[in-house]
Amino acid sequence: MSIRNIGILAHVDAGKTTITERMLYLSGSIHSLGSVDDGTANTDWMEVERRRGISVRSASTSFKYEDIIVNLIDTPGHIDFSGEVERSLRVLDAAVLVISAAEGIESQSELLWKALRSLEIPTIIFINKIDRRASDIKKVYQQIYKIFSKNVIALQIVKGENSKKPILGDLLLGRDDFLASDDRGSENSDLDEIIKYQNKIYEFIAERDEEIMLKYIEEDPLPLETLKFKLKSLIQAADVYPIIYGSAINGIGIKQLLEMVKDYLPEPGMEADGPLAGLVYKIDHDPNIGGMAHLRLYSGTLKNRDTVYNLSRDKYEKITQIKKAYSNKYEDIGILKAGDIGIICGLKQTYIGDVLGDDSYVPGDYQLANPLLTVEVKPADKNKITDLIAALKELEEEDPLLSLEWLKEKREVHIKIMGVIQLEVLESILKDRFNLSVSFGEASVVYQETPVSSAEGFVRYTMPKPCWAVLRFKIEPGELGSGLVYRSEVRPDVLPLKYQKQVERTMPSALKQGLYGWEVTDLKVTLLDGEYHIEHTHAPDFMVATPMGIMDGLTNTETILLEPILWFQITVPEDLSGKVIGDLVQMRAEYENPQIINGKFSVEGTIPVATSLDYSIKLSSISAGRGLIKTKFHGYKKCPIEEGATCPRRGVNPLDRAKYILSVRNAL
Ligand code: GDP
Repeated sequence: MSIRNIGILAHVDAGKTTITERMLYLSGSIHSLGSVDDGTANTDWMEVERRRGISVRSASTSFKYEDIIVNLIDTPGHIDFSGEVERSLRVLDAAVLVISAAEGIESQSELLWKALRSLEIPTIIFINKIDRRASDIKKVYQQIYKIFSKNVIALQIVKGENSKKPILGDLLLGRDDFLASDDRGSENSDLDEIIKYQNKIYEFIAERDEEIMLKYIEEDPLPLETLKFKLKSLIQAADVYPIIYGSAINGIGIKQLLEMVKDYLPEPGMEADGPLAGLVYKIDHDPNIGGMAHLRLYSGTLKNRDTVYNLSRDKYEKITQIKKAYSNKYEDIGILKAGDIGIICGLKQTYIGDVLGDDSYVPGDYQLANPLLTVEVKPADKNKITDLIAALKELEEEDPLLSLEWLKEKREVHIKIMGVIQLEVLESILKDRFNLSVSFGEASVVYQETPVSSAEGFVRYTMPKPCWAVLRFKIEPGELGSGLVYRSEVRPDVLPLKYQKQVERTMPSALKQGLYGWEVTDLKVTLLDGEYHIEHTHAPDFMVATPMGIMDGLTNTETILLEPILWFQITVPEDLSGKVIGDLVQMRAEYENPQIINGKFSVEGTIPVATSLDYSIKLSSISAGRGLIKTKFHGYKKCPIEEGATCPRRGVNPLDRAKYILSVRNAL
């Protein structure tokens, strides 16, 4: 059977879960329709998802539709859970992006679109909720054309928009019809419209394909099958994005969606006899089964009881069982072949992002969002701190962005989060799954640091014996957003490559905490000089020395804070404009051209996360719920230390040389 690995993505509430339910139902995989509204959706598994009506985790579900198997990954739509989306994007061959016909493009849809484009994933745009009174598909189409891409083409004609039962045309490139105006022999006005629209598609494809262009100019009738084939190639190359419509809640447009998936989306390459290559994109823990690694297999074949090589950990592990998730249950499948997605049980030391086998087949990474907040997790019962750490460790395996930190001296547990909704979800997961009651400290912004000037850092680690590692670095400020650019100017005969590799590998951890305790980024580090000793140098010496050399350099360059900034748009009734402007100034916002249209004041610009954490709540209270704020991550920006905050040092500071050396040596 032919496979389709597709993701379904959307801003929260656009209707993904409802569409998924409908697809499962139509394919015959489930016999009763679940609903998000009464908490019975088949793909919303977690207690908290059912209660809140949002998907938190990406649920993968497989189902058969005619002669294909669809592996569908339903991803969470809320920005707080972007980490989940990001991890699943890597394993998709194509995506369905859902946009609400009433709300149009929302901040998260834009973010998702960018990610899909940067990974060149073929994408169908599904405009849902055409039954809604507020639906305006013309407007949404124009928005898509303007914001997303000019390479979009709608493939259906919609009648009766905004009504309870909108009528949706079939996909315009049906199998049996011919695109030939002379052949129609009917005066039917619907048919006229269809032919007009088919011609538009003809023209659209012609503009992108020379062969078709010639036919088009010569006004040659063309079998729809040929056009369909061309359209398919354009879609699969991610050069063109088809738009289709629907009203999932009424089951309208779902069949056409499945037809699109079947006829237009790519089939994965299937080298079942090739070398093993798989990517773990998600880890789950089931109370009965234990750890489950969700795997996309790019090449090769896996069977129950196979031993596999985990390239990322350099370890061999044994598979106990291979399963697949069909709607709401697991089935043992025993064997997984290239191109497919499955669940591997029994792997004990395998984590998200790990590659099994050969990594040359595995596609690259894309980061959607970084957690911008850090918060302390406090157990209600202080004696349960060890249980809490164990629980958070397990959750961190499922979501590495949590970046758990245990501050031993203070006996505090800190995690990183995307937003406050995530805390609410985390609180109920800890309660439901681990029986732990927790509360959270005040969320604080995650700052970064960057060097102010260029300078050198030096370390001579030759005491207390036995050890020998000498390093000299140059540290320079880099461009905003450039991260770390590291290179070495030292010849291998001066410092052997194995030691140079140690320096390079230690660099990220050496930069984890700068002068103010935050991660140092956007800088260039060059290794200028190094020295080892044929007798005295021990294997880990350069790993111990690097952080001391880097911290010495940072003391010389000095650092400045970078704070996260949001783009915002605020709309309020006109009479509140003065109040809002006052607030914006206080929050250090930057904005341009505030406008008043139809009694509504609107303003957009950028604003620090730190000053605007609670603003949506405040806005809602000053405007009695009539104010609206939209935000999305904009980037990092320099910020004077007086406006920011420092972060307490975790572990011993390498500048406290004697104590640091002792502590690292003990730990090694
Ligand atoms: P998700 O957050 O994207 O998974 O969206 P859901 O599937 O949970 O749907 C969000 C809300 O929109 C629910 O209340 C659904 O019943 C409703 N909804 C979904 N599809 C439609 C539709 O086609 N028309 C209308 N009017 N409501 C819909």
